[in-house]
Amino acid sequence: MADPGKPVIVTAQRGGELRCRGWRQEAILRMLENVLEIGERPEDLVVYAARGKAARDWESYVRIVESLRHLGEDETLVVQSGKPVAVFPSSPDAPLVVMACGNVVGHYATAEYFDELCDRGLIMWGGLTAGDWQYIGFQGVLQGVYELLQAVGKEHFGGSLDRRFVLTAGLGGMGSAQPLAIAMAGGCGIVVEIDPEKCSRALERGHLASVTDDLDKALALVGPREAGSVIGLVGNAASIYSEIAEKRVVPDVVTDLTAAHDAVFGYCPVDYSLEQWRECRHLDPTGVADRARRSMAIQVQAMQRLKAGGAIVFEDGNNLRVQAEAAGVHDAFTIDGFAERYLRPLFCRGIGPFRWVALSGERADLAELDRLVVEMSFRPEVGSWISLARSHVTPQGLPARSCWLGHGERSRFAYAVNALVHEGRLAGPVAFTRDHFDSGGMTHPHIGTEGMADGSGAISDWPILDALLLAASGADLVAVHAGGAGYAGYMQSAGVTIVADGTEGAGVRLRRGLDADSGLGVLRYADAGYTAALSTARSAGLGLRHEREERQWHES
Ligand code: NAD
Repeated sequence: MADPGKPVIVTAQRGGELRCRGWRQEAILRMLENVLEIGERPEDLVVYAARGKAARDWESYVRIVESLRHLGEDETLVVQSGKPVAVFPSSPDAPLVVMACGNVVGHYATAEYFDELCDRGLIMWGGLTAGDWQYIGFQGVLQGVYELLQAVGKEHFGGSLDRRFVLTAGLGGMGSAQPLAIAMAGGCGIVVEIDPEKCSRALERGHLASVTDDLDKALALVGPREAGSVIGLVGNAASIYSEIAEKRVVPDVVTDLTAAHDAVFGYCPVDYSLEQWRECRHLDPTGVADRARRSMAIQVQAMQRLKAGGAIVFEDGNNLRVQAEAAGVHDAFTIDGFAERYLRPLFCRGIGPFRWVALSGERADLAELDRLVVEMSFRPEVGSWISLARSHVTPQGLPARSCWLGHGERSRFAYAVNALVHEGRLAGPVAFTRDHFDSGGMTHPHIGTEGMADGSGAISDWPILDALLLAASGADLVAVHAGGAGYAGYMQSAGVTIVADGTEGAGVRLRRGLDADSGLGVLRYADAGYTAALSTARSAGLGLRHEREERQWHES
């Protein structure tokens, strides 16, 4: 159907010219434009993860843009699953935008019913950072995969992943971070991808050493275990993983980042060509989902064989085990989940995927922010990451940095950046945000909150409280998302963006909002009994004031 509202190409505005009534609103608008500038299928408003969209449809997009352009400092725009609903009077201390995306009450939250609601144009899946305009491109997941591989290296390989063979799959929006993350961690490996164009893109970016469609050739290339050598293998992960297991080749590390959570649009069944898959997912979505789940079962069983052979095997947050279990692999969860096994100790300290975006579009602003975060010397890991990111990350969209900072570190840094904006030492304001997959931001009993020590992994009060608290603290954009498509019924999350525009008010919002966000995250793990979170909470003075004071009195 012809869509008169459909822009040909969306790019984020750069420079100092404002189209809105203030920088806070302009910042939110640039963030929206940016996710489409760097998204996977902007023509369909799809940003990443197969179907994660920025707006319900092009008409909604145009109405959101117009609403932001006219929005006052004391007003709040309400967005329901990518469609603007209304602008209400609020206060300069309230969020400019609140949104809820993909939420369906528990009993109805199935993939099938969600798809039906999507088809009727009533709801949208915003992924984690697509629907609330916080996606910063593949760098967003790059540090996550890097931190994960570092943790794996520390735990299993005497401190580092040096020259270890990683087998993984998927070179999509998120998955394309994998080759670079493996190389940055000093490893080597094979990434299986069904779409040759995705392999070519990674090759052109310089992230793959070579591409082949021949497994034996790929294995021969990875044989010498040369650090940083990652091979793209065009093929289907289910069949390739099985063939590797049959050959009794045992990689050191095995995982996967196909969009397995979405059995229709995210995972190509083993008996389909890429073209057949693309055609059939529209004609026969139920049949495709069934075949895809059976293929995922084959892949998971191959991963289990590789684990039995000695490989370190984990799921990387794409719901692969849930899908395989649905297809009859009853012991799919003998494969570890990455967050519980490797990242939880960081989340207990409020350390997670924090990000900032230089809204001027100037690379020099990003360089200045990189310099400042290193100078503030929070932890040695921060300096190492920034130097790796500066040398390896290719620019995408507005200059942005993902940097895992912890509770207290985020607010101190953002406050210092706000001062730089105020002093005119940057060309423009800076937006601070984070992935929803963060200590306080997400409930997902098969990803972020798997195996919580007190059994609270499925309780979604926490991200909802996080969003309410962020709104109370005056964050500029606050979102409550739920899992649509294949994540339906499995997750609830909260997203936040706060703008450093150099004003005193921004300083207050940044301190209040960022400390509340990571502080609640730390308390969530403290509540579950994790020692690291209890000690972070104690040293940061988090919790109920009268209990803090009582404790201080006893300790003195
Ligand atoms: P995407 O849809 O952009 O890419 C998926 C890729 O997998 C595509 O390139 C597709 O061609 C390929 N593929 C599909 N089936 C295949 C098969 N059988 N064999 C080989 N290749 C196949 O998705 P994305 O944005 O890259 O996200 C991937 C997954 O990662 C999603 O499930 C997403 O939710 C999850 N995710 C994880 C994290 C994390 O922190 N670990 C963060 C964000 C997203």
